[in-house]
Amino acid sequence: MAQAKSGSDRMEKIVSLCKRRGFVFQSSEIYGGLNGCWDYGPLGTELKRNLKDFWWRRMVRERDDVVGMDGSILMNRQVWVASGHENTFTDPMVDCRNCKSRLRADQLPEKNGRKQCPVCGSFDLTEPRAFNLMFKTYVGATEDESAITYLRPETAQAIFVQFRNILEVSRKKLPFGIAQIGKAFRNEINPRNFTFRSREFEQMELEYFCRPENGLELLEYWLQERLRFYRDIGLSSESLHVHKIPPEECAHYSKGTYDIEFEFPFGIQELEGVAYRTDYDLNQHQKASGKPLDYFDEESKQHFIPHVVEPSAGVDRTALALISAAYDEEVVTDEKGKSETRTVLRFHPRMAPIKCGVFPLLKNNELLVRQAREIVDQLRGEMMVFHDETGAIGRRYRRQDEAGTPFGVTVDFDTIGENGPALRDTVTVRHRDSMEQERIAIKELTAFLGERIR
Ligand code: ATP
Repeated sequence: MAQAKSGSDRMEKIVSLCKRRGFVFQSSEIYGGLNGCWDYGPLGTELKRNLKDFWWRRMVRERDDVVGMDGSILMNRQVWVASGHENTFTDPMVDCRNCKSRLRADQLPEKNGRKQCPVCGSFDLTEPRAFNLMFKTYVGATEDESAITYLRPETAQAIFVQFRNILEVSRKKLPFGIAQIGKAFRNEINPRNFTFRSREFEQMELEYFCRPENGLELLEYWLQERLRFYRDIGLSSESLHVHKIPPEECAHYSKGTYDIEFEFPFGIQELEGVAYRTDYDLNQHQKASGKPLDYFDEESKQHFIPHVVEPSAGVDRTALALISAAYDEEVVTDEKGKSETRTVLRFHPRMAPIKCGVFPLLKNNELLVRQAREIVDQLRGEMMVFHDETGAIGRRYRRQDEAGTPFGVTVDFDTIGENGPALRDTVTVRHRDSMEQERIAIKELTAFLGERIR
C-alpha cells in the first residue's frame, strides 16, 4: 500500500509538472476537456518528435531492409471488415447498476472473488457485453450505411493493403519491412492513467515480412532489437519487463507474442507488443479484395504469402515512460549552506526537448547578450536551444533542470575577455545531472554538444 501511495504521489507530481512546464495539457481544456484526449505543449511536442525521429532512424534510416510509408487515417470500410476489426475489435464492457459507470470488465478490481465497481464499490454489475472500440464516421454528405467508415484503430492495416505497391516500387527481397508512424483512435471504455490509455494516440509500427520458416527466429530478433531501442532512449534494463503472452491468450493467428512492459508509477504496463502474425493479414486482404498479395521467390520460382513479425509501439506511452523515468527530486545545498529541493528531468540527451540553455550572465550587459545570441545562432541549426536572460543564473539553471535540458552554456566576463585574454571566447558548460561545469571554446561547442546528443 505504501508503494501504491508513493506511486500515486509520484504520478501526481509528474502530471502537475507536465502541465506547469508545458509537456501535456488537457484537450479543449477551456471547455472542460474531452476525456481521453490530450494536447502536447512546446516541450512535450519536442519530446515526442525526438522519440519518433529516433525510432525512424533506428528502424528505417540505419537499415537496408526497411522502407517507410504514411497512410491515410480514413480507409475503405472493407479494410476493417477483412481485417476482422469490424466484428471483433471489442473490449468486454459492464455497467454498474448502482452508479451507472461504464467499465471494462477485464480490468475490474475483485473483493472476495467478486468483481467490484472501482467508482462506488458496488457489486451490482451487468453481464459483460462486447463493445467495439472503433470510432464510426461517414464519408461524404450522405449519412447512410454505404458511407460508413472508421477512424483507424491501428496504423498497420495501411501497410498490409499497400504491400504490393511498396514491394514493387522498393524492389526489396524478403525479409524486408515497412514502417509507419501515425495517429490511431480507439473509443476506450475507461481512458486512464494520464496519457497512458487515450482515445487518440500515435503508434510507431513496423511490419517485417519474411519466409514462414524464419518467423519464430525473427520474433526473437525483433524483441531484442526493440529492447535495445528502449535502453538507448534512456529506460533502464531494470525498468523494462518482457511478458510472453501464453499461447491460449494470443490472437488465434499469432504464433507468438511478447509484450514489452515498463514500470510506470501506477504499475507495470505494456509499452509495445511484438507479435508474429503469420500470413493472417495479407491472406485476409487477398481473399477479401481478390487482388494478389503474394511474393514471387526468384530462387525457388514459387509464389507464397509472406509471414510477418510486427513490433507495435505507442508514442504517447513511451513519452510518458520517458518522463516517468526521468523525474527526480534531490536536495541540494548551495555555497551559503542553504538547502532546497531540485526537480530535475534526467532525460537521455538524445530525447531531451531542449538540448542546451544559453545564458548571458547579466541581461543588461550588451556584450554578454550579443555573444549569447551569436552562440544561439551557431547552435540553432543543429539542435533545439533556449536563450534565457531573466533572473539569477541559479534560477535559470533550475528552470532548465525541470525541463530536462542536459546542458547549460553561460556567457560571462571571461568570455568577452574582460578578465584578460586567457579565457576569451570560452564559455562554461554546466551539466544538468552532476551540476558540474567545464570551460569550452565557443568554436568547439557545436561538436562538443553534437556528439553528446546524437
Ligand atoms: P492495451 O492492452 O493496453 O489496450 P493493446 O494490446 O490493445 O493495448 P496494441 O493493439 O498491441 O495494444 O497496440 C500497440 C501499441 O499501441 C500498444 O503497445 C500501446 O503502446 C499503443 N496503444 C494502444 N492503445 C493505446 C491507447 N488507448 N492509448 C495510448 N496508446 C495505446
